[in-house]
Amino acid sequence: MFTINYEDRIKKRRTFAIISHPDAGKTTVTEKMLFLGKVIHTTGTVKSKGSSKYAKSDWMEIERRRGISVTTSVMQFSYKNYIINLLDTPGHEDFSEDTYRILTAVDFCIMIIDAAKGVEERTKKLIEVTRLRKTPIITFINKLDRYSKNSISLLDEIESDLNIKCIPINWPIGSGTSFYGIYSLKDKKIYKYLKKKKNKQNHDILFNYPKILNLFSLKKIYEENYAEEIYEELQLIENVYDKYDSIEFLKSISTPVFFGTALGNFGIDYMLDYVVKYAPSPNSRKTNVRIVDPKESFVTGFIFKIQANMDLRHRDRVAFMRVVSGTFFKGMKLKNVRTGKIFVLSDAVYFIAGERRIVNVAYPGDVIGIHNHGTINIGDTFTEGENFSFIEIPLFAPEIFKKILLKNPLKKKQLVKGLIELSEEGTIQVFKKIDNNTIFLGAIGLLQFEVVLDRLKIEYKVDIVYNDINISLIRWIKCKSKKKLKDFMNKYSQYLALDFKKNLVYIATSSANLKITSDLYKKYISFSSTINF
Ligand code: GDP
Repeated sequence: MFTINYEDRIKKRRTFAIISHPDAGKTTVTEKMLFLGKVIHTTGTVKSKGSSKYAKSDWMEIERRRGISVTTSVMQFSYKNYIINLLDTPGHEDFSEDTYRILTAVDFCIMIIDAAKGVEERTKKLIEVTRLRKTPIITFINKLDRYSKNSISLLDEIESDLNIKCIPINWPIGSGTSFYGIYSLKDKKIYKYLKKKKNKQNHDILFNYPKILNLFSLKKIYEENYAEEIYEELQLIENVYDKYDSIEFLKSISTPVFFGTALGNFGIDYMLDYVVKYAPSPNSRKTNVRIVDPKESFVTGFIFKIQANMDLRHRDRVAFMRVVSGTFFKGMKLKNVRTGKIFVLSDAVYFIAGERRIVNVAYPGDVIGIHNHGTINIGDTFTEGENFSFIEIPLFAPEIFKKILLKNPLKKKQLVKGLIELSEEGTIQVFKKIDNNTIFLGAIGLLQFEVVLDRLKIEYKVDIVYNDINISLIRWIKCKSKKKLKDFMNKYSQYLALDFKKNLVYIATSSANLKITSDLYKKYISFSSTINF
């Protein structure tokens, strides 16, 4: 019988997330990928979300329209004999710290840019996060069927705003109503965009010139002047941009760039073919003791996300673990290194073809969901016995802050318990000012505050209200000299707080304020925007 060996299983896996600014087309690209992976069998138009209220998760939106169950954080499907693990990064209202942390659990990201808008705010932030681990980035420039910015300017913008070198793998011919197709720099073929084909990949390969692009044939399609213009541009592109270099891509120095239109079902398969061929398979991860290679036979993994309240009555929580090494089998015993507790994992779940299924076997790069009742935290490491912890699962400095007020002062104990548990779970960050004990919360997305309000009420029977607080940033502080730290603490006590793990943070009322203070003390004190969980 034909069996696939363990190393091949790893080589044939791709674990990634799609990142973009809202409305650039993440949901549509995801949908087309699910279509290519045969998870869904037709593709439709993502409805305009302008006026109507839409579902909170992008995948819930697909679920709603498709009637399939993908209320999950990860979706697994196969494409050309490869197993794809696509991790969802909430893009809209439920954007949160989780979104940042998901990016630490992938091996590379696909960044979607709206061709008319270029690099937008959310993309900048997400790319900043991927920099922490030097995560490789593949770029897809979407919506070429509409008016688009000049392609060279778009790549200039990506290069300067995101500080990454662009290597076009294909190049658009025209845009908007005169979007003709893409020219593949690699195989020198022109893929013609066919507008009318529904539920099929929307292209025909038009020309195939083994050596060089041919002006004569372009003239058959376009008027003479326009054909010459296109011909010149394509020749220029061949010479202007560097050739693809896999090492630069893997180090995130350069990003391969693809063009297309997700809505027009055009260009996604081209990119996915590249993903399976060139994007990295599950990689090794650092622990506080040593580096763990995916090829090692013992099972290890780390928790990067906890989804709470899946079933309110049972306080059901699913902790999402990325398998780093080994072959996981149903019923396996794994140790939570932080608590020493052994878990018998007979009901771990994963998500395939839109359904939740019990995991019988999982390999490095796969993500499995572990049911628990609050005994697993974000950042926890699971092993078959070894005592080490994966690092690089960070807390990110929050960007929005609120003061918390208790409606009934007698409930203080419950409030503290609730806040500790919620912060351990990664739902919110809790801080206490050192001068006057004011408690304030910090988050990346506003929805996190709503979730805390609801969960404190339902699970801990505590009513709170939020007040605004004049904080714009926090930074974790580290100082080697005890004396200098003491001086600093005396001088800035009103700008200092402790997080829920008693790490010291500096509170800034503006980025200018942070700059002044950090410039003043940069010799002795580091001001960090992340800390290990
Ligand atoms: P998300 O917010 O990033 O998930 O974006 P969506 O996938 O929901 O897309 C936002 C809007 O752009 C929707 O109305 C889509 O139909 C539309 N859209 C997505 N891709 C394309 C495209 O290639 N061309 C055009 N014209 N519209 C697109």
